[in-house]
Amino acid sequence: MRKKLLLSSFTLLIFTIAFTQQNTIQVKAPGNFPIRAISISVPPAEKIDSFVTFIANDLAPRRLNTLVLRVNYHYQYKSHPELIDDDALTEADVKKIVAVCRENNIKIIPQINLFGHQSSAGRIGKLLEKYPQFDETPWIPLPANYKWPNADSLYCKSYCPLHPDVHNIVFKLVDEICDVFETNAFHAGMDEIFYIGMDKCPRCGGKNKAELFANEVNKVRDHLAEKGRTLYIWADRLIDGLATGLGGWEGSFNYTWPAIHMVKKDVVMCDWHYERPDKTAAYFATHGFKVITCTWNRPAVAVEQHKDMQKFYAESAPEMSANFLGMMQTVWSGTSRFYYEYYNTGYDTARRSAGKAFRDGFPKANVTKYKDDNGFPIIAYALCKSPEQIADINFSGITHMNYAFFNPDSNGNFT
Ligand SMILES: [Zn+2]
Repeated sequence: MRKKLLLSSFTLLIFTIAFTQQNTIQVKAPGNFPIRAISISVPPAEKIDSFVTFIANDLAPRRLNTLVLRVNYHYQYKSHPELIDDDALTEADVKKIVAVCRENNIKIIPQINLFGHQSSAGRIGKLLEKYPQFDETPWIPLPANYKWPNADSLYCKSYCPLHPDVHNIVFKLVDEICDVFETNAFHAGMDEIFYIGMDKCPRCGGKNKAELFANEVNKVRDHLAEKGRTLYIWADRLIDGLATGLGGWEGSFNYTWPAIHMVKKDVVMCDWHYERPDKTAAYFATHGFKVITCTWNRPAVAVEQHKDMQKFYAESAPEMSANFLGMMQTVWSGTSRFYYEYYNTGYDTARRSAGKAFRDGFPKANVTKYKDDNGFPIIAYALCKSPEQIADINFSGITHMNYAFFNPDSNGNFT
């Protein structure tokens, strides 16, 4: 069974009847997948206003509806002020972001890296700096001059998921950041975890790494679920890096991938591939997970990934189609660098550009203007499962729309 939009219109007549035949339009047009997202770090506090302007002027016209905001310790936490990093945002700064996102119907998903990414090159992260007892590998020092590869296979430090005190602290941060951003979604990172189940860890040594990973994901998921919140993670630990040829970063070389059978199905998978338009979205969808394909700085790859997601979404059975959530632009530079790439088209000849990938992969959309029809409103009532599904349909002749969960603005525009 395919979902259909039931639509008709009459001058001078406002009707709210769901029609059962004729004038049906296929809702499931290609490209209507629900999520159009960007993942970016929070700006330094002094640049919050330009970030707000960027959201209003550049994300909204590209119909972005989801903002994954990598906060980590760049917020002035009240629950654990000892973990506040440099350039941390105040609550007032955050509320500026909340306001502009609400105005533009953009959902915010704040991120704090849990489990992995507790250090970066030679710099320890705030959690392990203040609580070194949580370190999964306390016997491995951070080098003054970090290089890869190295004898310790040190990429980033992890916290020990079995330390009895770690969740008491990180869950307070998770709760606080979700509260201040007024959101029901949280991104826990959990990518590229190399240090997991280390033999020398007195708690994890000898344990199954897939189980350790899945248990930690599910623990975070269960905590969020208590308040009706959804967990998002980067999906690489659930991919067999050897069998797929995807390697040890965007896939796993450390035997965590069987966790795909253990992680609860309502955890949303952010499946990142930057070098090629790999088709692993289908792998997650067939395992019952909702999945977002994530792109970065290769414009041609971004465009192909969009096409793939459109096809997966449009051409799958409804059970599978619902799992193909959409696309996410990731930005792994600071915000200033990204603005430069995004606004400066002269940079487009560079081999890689997240700014051009974003422009090409998330083109601005025309806002549909509706006819006045001699001043009389023509109002239609539609049954549809999400607002995004109606975005590409030509409603020429209709001035207003009564949609169950979505109303036009005062000009009759939907976007
Ligand atoms: Zn451990």
